[in-house]
Amino acid sequence: MRLRNVPGSRDMIAESRFTIKNETEKKGKWNEVFGNDHPIHIEIGMGKGQFIMTLAAQNPDINYVGIEKYSSVLVRALEKQEEEDLPNLFFIRMEAENIADVFAEEEVDRIYLNFSDPWPKDRHAKRRLTSAAFLDRYENILKPEGHVIFKTDNRDLFDFSLEQVELAPHWKLLNHTFDLHHSEYAEGNVMTEYETRFVEKGNAICRMEIMQIR
Ligand code: SAH
Repeated sequence: MRLRNVPGSRDMIAESRFTIKNETEKKGKWNEVFGNDHPIHIEIGMGKGQFIMTLAAQNPDINYVGIEKYSSVLVRALEKQEEEDLPNLFFIRMEAENIADVFAEEEVDRIYLNFSDPWPKDRHAKRRLTSAAFLDRYENILKPEGHVIFKTDNRDLFDFSLEQVELAPHWKLLNHTFDLHHSEYAEGNVMTEYETRFVEKGNAICRMEIMQIR
């Protein structure tokens, strides 16, 4: 993500009714935040939010939480949400490493990862959102039957992710494709900002769906 500083974005995030402040206090209480017991789906690294906002509009009976570490990007999603006012969508500006401080055990029904940062250097492998370290964090918060769905055009990151799932004792691969847009999973696929850009460039999009083994 290009890091163009958007002046005032921190203040906008602090003041918005669509962002969650003191997110660790919501742990185990997300049904109170939404005012219902609907399933909770989260996107980690949501960027400007096109994907999660489309899903939230399509599925009013699912609650969505978008997580993004950079204010300058998150603020774009906030602007759209000010217009759309979707009651089933909130945002948190945070580093995903701390995700297990924000959701209780089995509080989350699904996790989306879209075009996550590749962190190509070996010494940064732990920062990849599909690394064993992150799978452990997801295991904590995800319901046993919950899925993680990951899309990327980065074949190295995708191969690494397949390998991490294979090595992880508590995860299994449910399905995967190296060319989403020419696969059975194309129908109903909701595009992200990055996906639109990469598809226009002619890149194939990889997608995997994984689940825990308990
Ligand atoms: N999902 C969007 C954006 C992809 S770029 C899309 O597909 O269009 C990856 C985004 O993830 C960036 O906005 C980056 O800031 C965010 N991100 C990466 N690592 C993160 C982390 N550890 N915690 C929170 N956000 C993260």
